[in-house]
Amino acid sequence: GGASLASARVVVGGGRGVGSADGFGPLDELASLLGGVVGVSRVVTSEGWRPHTQQVGQTGTKITPDLYLACGISGAIQHIAGCAGAKHIIAINTDPAAPMMARADYAVVGDLHAVIPALVEALRERPSRAG
Ligand SMILES: Cc1cc2nc3c(=O)[nH]c(=O)nc-3n(C[C@H](O)[C@H](O)[C@H](O)COP(=O)(O)OP(=O)(O)OC[C@H]3O[C@@H](n4cnc5c(N)ncnc54)[C@H](O)[C@@H]3O)c2cc1C
Repeated sequence: GGASLASARVVVGGGRGVGSADGFGPLDELASLLGGVVGVSRVVTSEGWRPHTQQVGQTGTKITPDLYLACGISGAIQHIAGCAGAKHIIAINTDPAAPMMARADYAVVGDLHAVIPALVEALRERPSRAG
């Protein structure tokens, strides 16, 4: 809902593992369902998949959300410099040995292209709290 990356309570992060600009569709949808924004690694901005304004890290924005969901991001030290202030980190990565997995409170070993659409579907099917 227009929250800025620096002040968002939820940030859905995408890295090289997202694979392409188009691959960000499900991440955008997940961020929207969670009332958050999308943040990315430098690889993603270097590839031109996303603008530099969305980069998290030493040479990007420093974020302090309640939840950082790091998808397909290895966890390089220059990236951690930007997300170390997150209260909780959930990592989704095909590589259980990726440094981000060790930083995370919860680590999901899996393909983000399967895990994120499943999450989106589960959130969409949530019963409305308004009843
Ligand atoms: C001076 C300097 C400043 C820098 N500043 C920044 C900065 O501000 N921000 C920043 O982010 N980086 C910065 N970097 C770059 C940093 O060192 C890394 O190169 C970068 O963070 C790596 O991005 P990545 O994690 O997206 O890619 P990679 O390191 O290539 O990691 C991709 C990850 O995706 C996983 N993966 C692949 N496919 C899938 C899949 N289908 N599902 C799930 N997981 C998958 C892989 O297992 C891997 O762990 C800087 C570097 C330097 C030298």
